Amino acid sequence: MKKTLLILFALLCSLVTFPQKIKTMIITGQDGSHWWKGGSEAIKMILDNSNLFSVDILTTPARGESMESYRPDFRKYNLVVFNYGGETLVEAVRKDFEQFVANGGGVVIIHSSIIPMENWPEYNMMAGLGAWNGRNEKDGPYVYWKNDRWVYDYSPGWAGYHGLQHPFTVVHRDTLHPITRGLPPVWEHFKDELYARLRGPAMNMTMLATAYETASDGVGRDEPVLWTVNYGKGRVFVSVLGHAGNDPELRYSMECAGFQVTLLRGSEWAATGKVTQDVPYDFPSKDIISLRRSFTPPKLRMEN
Ligand code: ZN
Repeated sequence: MKKTLLILFALLCSLVTFPQKIKTMIITGQDGSHWWKGGSEAIKMILDNSNLFSVDILTTPARGESMESYRPDFRKYNLVVFNYGGETLVEAVRKDFEQFVANGGGVVIIHSSIIPMENWPEYNMMAGLGAWNGRNEKDGPYVYWKNDRWVYDYSPGWAGYHGLQHPFTVVHRDTLHPITRGLPPVWEHFKDELYARLRGPAMNMTMLATAYETASDGVGRDEPVLWTVNYGKGRVFVSVLGHAGNDPELRYSMECAGFQVTLLRGSEWAATGKVTQDVPYDFPSKDIISLRRSFTPPKLRMEN
């Protein structure tokens, strides 16, 4: 009898499936223009505190040191987040990573991570758009929103502009995608460094959101700030929001609830193809900036 009960219990246990956390690796290091350590710790807190992800930070060797020792094992992960501004990964790692994504692995690319590794074509395909580091018309079109449609502009010219940091309005251009569905379609982002004049291969992209910026030539455009790319069976989410400055106090852009919620939804979508998260009540709106300074989602409305 006891044995039968034990077998029954074991059978029951095998039927109850506990939700698995999304195993996530953050690739970070070397970025001389950003406080990558603090930024990556914030990204880890945002993801871990949602209880949907379990996150490891894998820091590259310092700039100038050999990259040979940096050999992340992508097979242990569902999702790879780039918060990285350094040298191109070595060939063996590049090949592993390309296979990981082609086979269905998820990728998230944050802010300045669209700048490095301009000499790695497959990474640029995954990112869709890039900036600086000698990019120009040889790398692909500019992409921006005009007259209710996306413009792919192949005219020659440099890539990459940002002015002084400032708060700005994010406008969702696709409100049916799992990442943006149900969120307020127009919202105020806290002070951040807004990139403009991005260009790249721009293949297999779904553009989600824009923000308006006037570049150094005096021309203003609705520039893409959130988008996705399909690469093989893999999914990539790119957010050019989320500057982190050179000081622990200077990751305020990541404190924006809009940055955090789109990061969480984009990360889940990249890893699983779905978004199971509810729309939180503290998402910013057209008139209200909303901060999560502890990088933690609010639990209940009553507690606020
Ligand atoms: Zn920045």
